[in-house]
Amino acid sequence: MLRTASCSASLTSASPFFRHFPLSYSSLSSSTGALRAPGRNLRRVASPASTGRRVFLRRGLRVPSTAGRGVNRQLSRLSVRAVATQPAPSYPDVGQDEAEKLGFEKVSEEFISECKSKATLFKHKKTGCEVMSVSNEDENKVFGIVLRTPPKDSTGIPHILEHSVLCGSRKYPLKEPFVELLKGSLHTFLNAFTYPDRTCYPVASTNTKDFYNLVDVYLDAVFFPKCVDDVHTFQQEGWHYELNDPSEDISYKGVVFNEMKGVYSQPDNILGRIAQQANNTYGVDSGGDPKDIPNLTFEEFKDFHRKYYHPSNARIWFYGDDDPLQRLRILSEYLDMFEASPSRDTSKIEPQRLFSEPIRIVEKYPAGRDGDLKKKNMVCINWLLSEKPLDLETQLALGFLDHLMLGTPASPLRKILLESGLGEALVSSGMSDELLQPQFSVGMKGVSEDNVQKVEELIMSTLKKLAEEGFESDAVEASMNTIEFSLRENNTGSFPRGLSLMLQSIAKWIYDMDPFEPLKYTEPLKALKARIAEEGSKAVFSPLIEQFILNNSHRVTIEMQPDPEKASQEEAEEKSILEKVKAGMTEEDLAELARATEELRLKQETPDPPEALRCVPSLNLSDIPKEPTYVPTEVGDINGVKVLRHDLFTNDIVYAEVVFDMGSLKHELLPLVPLFCQSLLEMGTKDLSFVQLNQLIGRKTGGISVYPLTSSVRGKDEPCSKIIVRGKSMAGRADDLFNLMNCLLQEVQFTDQQRFKQFVSQSIARMENRLRGSGHGVAAARMDAMLNIAGWMSEQMGGLSYLEFLRTLEKKVDEDWEGISSSLEEIRRSLLAKNGCIVNMTADGKSLTNIEKSLEKFLDLLPENPSGGLVTWDGRLPLRNEAIVIPTQVNYVGKAGNIYSTGYELDGSAYVISKHISNTWLWDRVRVSGGAYGGFCDFDSHSGVFSFLSYRDPNLLKTLDIYDGTGDFLRGLDVDQETLTKAIIGTIGDVDSYQLPDAKGYSSLMRHLLGVTDEERLRKREEILTTSLKDFKDFAEAIDVVRDNGVAVAVASAEDIDAANNARSNFFEVKKAL
Ligand SMILES: [Zn+2]
Repeated sequence: MLRTASCSASLTSASPFFRHFPLSYSSLSSSTGALRAPGRNLRRVASPASTGRRVFLRRGLRVPSTAGRGVNRQLSRLSVRAVATQPAPSYPDVGQDEAEKLGFEKVSEEFISECKSKATLFKHKKTGCEVMSVSNEDENKVFGIVLRTPPKDSTGIPHILEHSVLCGSRKYPLKEPFVELLKGSLHTFLNAFTYPDRTCYPVASTNTKDFYNLVDVYLDAVFFPKCVDDVHTFQQEGWHYELNDPSEDISYKGVVFNEMKGVYSQPDNILGRIAQQANNTYGVDSGGDPKDIPNLTFEEFKDFHRKYYHPSNARIWFYGDDDPLQRLRILSEYLDMFEASPSRDTSKIEPQRLFSEPIRIVEKYPAGRDGDLKKKNMVCINWLLSEKPLDLETQLALGFLDHLMLGTPASPLRKILLESGLGEALVSSGMSDELLQPQFSVGMKGVSEDNVQKVEELIMSTLKKLAEEGFESDAVEASMNTIEFSLRENNTGSFPRGLSLMLQSIAKWIYDMDPFEPLKYTEPLKALKARIAEEGSKAVFSPLIEQFILNNSHRVTIEMQPDPEKASQEEAEEKSILEKVKAGMTEEDLAELARATEELRLKQETPDPPEALRCVPSLNLSDIPKEPTYVPTEVGDINGVKVLRHDLFTNDIVYAEVVFDMGSLKHELLPLVPLFCQSLLEMGTKDLSFVQLNQLIGRKTGGISVYPLTSSVRGKDEPCSKIIVRGKSMAGRADDLFNLMNCLLQEVQFTDQQRFKQFVSQSIARMENRLRGSGHGVAAARMDAMLNIAGWMSEQMGGLSYLEFLRTLEKKVDEDWEGISSSLEEIRRSLLAKNGCIVNMTADGKSLTNIEKSLEKFLDLLPENPSGGLVTWDGRLPLRNEAIVIPTQVNYVGKAGNIYSTGYELDGSAYVISKHISNTWLWDRVRVSGGAYGGFCDFDSHSGVFSFLSYRDPNLLKTLDIYDGTGDFLRGLDVDQETLTKAIIGTIGDVDSYQLPDAKGYSSLMRHLLGVTDEERLRKREEILTTSLKDFKDFAEAIDVVRDNGVAVAVASAEDIDAANNARSNFFEVKKAL
């Protein structure tokens, strides 16, 4: 697989929960979203996991908290195109009469120049259901239905319902239509999410027929789900007692139950939850607290659906280039079946009154026994900013302020906190306004007990100082440019633009405010800019800091203390509850429970009958284009350096990647590479402080990032190992972009010991978070490191080995800074050279020609050859089964092997088969009956490694047994032509996944680096399209190698690992990590 250093976003309480788990291997953003090898995207994030983090500037001004990483991830996500100059094009219109005939009334209509769309708000006359119908030229069509679903307690009703309604409905009476769509549609987005006060069901596709299929399945699911008549779905997705045999212990099972156990194993999430101190619906957890979930009854669950899943309480969004009249036709068929209900009033969210006094809360969180617990406190201050909704300009100004204070490593509040040395890293900080009332929070983790108070004081004094002194004008300019650039770029990565607009609009609309308003940011932005120009930035921002933060008595301070006993205590509590339950049961009860457990399992494991499967609409193979999408690519040469050019319309933006080879890097320097990359961006030169350098990047470009990339190359022993410098700017500023890249690469000095020390402690905090939140990624990296060289390299730079390295390095920074500094210098010398360098550029033809001179100048300044001779990479971790101990309530379980070692030769059918294994065998066994939040497999066609992984899994050995049964599953498989066709179409949907222009250019670069030609892509596509049942059976032989010679790695709790080693005589080598 392709690997880049990527940080995973953590879910905080204000962010939604997803039906299908968001994998955190890559992110949604443009910088990594395109990081997929041709033909596979198994580790793609399926949802906007990270959108919960900084959600202030809905209007598209999503400003990142960690923009220092250059091409910034968050910023690019939810933005709106800022092109307002063209005249309104005409889109098919729905006349008042036509709307009336279908039962709708046209409420209002506007052309929205920001997104070049005509938007019409309709109201369904009978039920009052509101519909936003947005028409434009975007082929990536989006539909979403959103219901207001405020919970009264933390039993997780809205979340469990969100999972359950997609488990069969009136028209689609099979186990999981959702999974059938995952398998066999061309969707560009398919998921569902639960917010603290609403539930969203969005789908997207570029194929109109496919799109309407998806819409129909979703509408039927929402309004007519089977789950309200079938307690089994509630038990499966929510919770139930499991008892296999009356002699055994009872346990809790349920997908949401285990998903939430995972959430509650992460201290950042616990902190976010406690921060929601409110008497209204936000004071409880819509996702469900694992302690409360078992209090939920089926009656309450059904009642919640009856109450809130009604057209009168629904808001529906359509977006794209399809026929707007057809949208109303589809909707009227559903909506006409209902009468008006009072649900719209009963679901109203009451605002929280602001506190008159600040409050302080001290809580404990589950920590490991290792490490210095004294230094593991967390502290965070939160403000609820206002009782009433804010006007647009104030909101924009607050978002701007947020970016100024925290948006980049050079932003003062962030910088001062990190430089204070009082803590390791910031906890999720910033403005957030996706809910009724906006909030601001800031805090640190990795704080020693005696420093907690000091962090609080430093936050307050810094805010005071910022109010008194204002911001540097360069900083204001940099923030303004960053925001405007992102608006123009409107780069939502692999997330559909229409969905990002929907989420912006709904964040007001859901509170009965104007759905158009959040889409129209041009005027208020202009006004804000004018005010800053006239009155100065201080006059604009200082009063905001005073009014909303300093003089705001609604301040909630939270301190969290590590508790090494808490994880086992919670486990013991759960056990004792379950023991009591069992003790209260008669023999007949127990027999009945065992029977019910068996009944549920049987039901889960019985496949849907073919006639039920057939009712889910699907495309035909004839609907599928026979050829892959080709990216225009011209390979040339400038001063001996290979240059790839992609002539694509990019709205006047230039995207450039400069790739250097790691072939001369000394082995022992490898784990320093990620910190080397960070140092380039965040250390400064002889003439420029890092703050100045950062501001320059913000003022002149759209961002620059530097990161390593490693992958196996099929048929070669040597891995591909590169450092990529990635940047973007307006075409007219390409010269600045290349000058700045040159400055970073050649002039940055590795002299700032204190900053370097911060990087190390931040990286430790990030890795520890990754272990808890994305243990499957850590396990996968570990297995790859045993199985191939590229995997080993990647693990050295981002896996458990890296964490171990960092912990040693932290001490070394004090003892031998000279040595480290010269090592960083040595890395630079071994990378920086024309020889081995490749440049990739994406822009329109004219810009590509215009920027040639700037590029030439940049390349001329590079040394001819790297210092040091070529090295051979050959590292691997010893092959063995490993269990990595962390304090957790749920596990991550992996097993992997190299199928090329059996002589298997790559065939396109492998993609179809591995997708099928994920969506059937693993989904059914690991998730549905096993109770894990997720289970999937991944086939890396470059290395041949086939891996199985589970996510938030209550089991361990049992899951490994399921993996081992895969070969037999394939051998026993009997699929009809329709199922096969579905699997093929779904695979093509992955291969053809929708890409914005920068992602197209980037994918093309990846293919170039990994030696994947267009001929090969065409051949693989043909193989995919002609996959047969025989291919499945043949694949069984290859996949047996995982069972027979594979390695297993689990990231799990001490208790579960002990139990596994007892049951299977020391199967795992145990390694402590947290
Ligand atoms: Zn969920």
